[in-house]
Amino acid sequence: KVCVLTLFPELFQPFWDHGIIRRAVQGGKIHPDTINIRAHAEGRHRVTDDRPYGGGCGMVMKPEPLAGALAEAKGRMPAATTLLLSPQGRRFDQKLAESLAKAGELIFVCGRYEGVDERFVDRFVDGESSIGDFVLTGGELAAMAIIDAVTRLIPGVLGNEDSADNDTFSDGLVEHAHYTRPPRYDDEPVPDVLLSGNHAEIARWRRETALMRTVLKRPDLLARRDLSPE
Ligand code: SAM
Repeated sequence: KVCVLTLFPELFQPFWDHGIIRRAVQGGKIHPDTINIRAHAEGRHRVTDDRPYGGGCGMVMKPEPLAGALAEAKGRMPAATTLLLSPQGRRFDQKLAESLAKAGELIFVCGRYEGVDERFVDRFVDGESSIGDFVLTGGELAAMAIIDAVTRLIPGVLGNEDSADNDTFSDGLVEHAHYTRPPRYDDEPVPDVLLSGNHAEIARWRRETALMRTVLKRPDLLARRDLSPE
């Protein structure tokens, strides 16, 4: 179960409605939900943000509407872990995706403006997640990126034809190269071994090219990984 607290719930509808995520929703592999933070704001104008104490530019998300939205989400999924999307958070990666895929219930809180009142963070947030060292205008794209990466790891979401087993990072390496038809494209042939039908040779070639590509593209990954003498 996943519930997203956001000022823009409509951004999520196309996300739930396409591709593998849609298949996962339809197959009951994930149960998505969004809560509009504004629905929990008081007053005729349902204001969700205010000027920062101490001065300075920008606006800050008020704690009460966030707390109200979170209480609604917790009412539906009491055991959920609450994650705030934030560029200050732990950098999201495949390892974290694997552990979140095993969590039963997740709540994502999407910030906007300068971020959210710290008292809400202190009281209600279990962890902060960043999708990289850059600053987005809001947490929604970050939440979608994380939900997407986590959903495809839930057993039964990917068919055999698009298994996650060999994916980049799953084995601490960049994945091998891919080729499809035609066998010759603009005079460039597909590597012979892939047409050989020899599965052991193909597996070996894939392993070798995965290692070479990791050296060339992401040497930092190899530095963190144990390798056999071979
Ligand atoms: N003033 C904040 C700071 O410097 O840490 C940045 C606020 S940002 C403009 C607005 C919201 O976008 C944040 O509250 C967060 O929810 C989201 N956001 C921005 N960058 C992000 C990132 N790299 N990863 C995850 N969420 C991000």
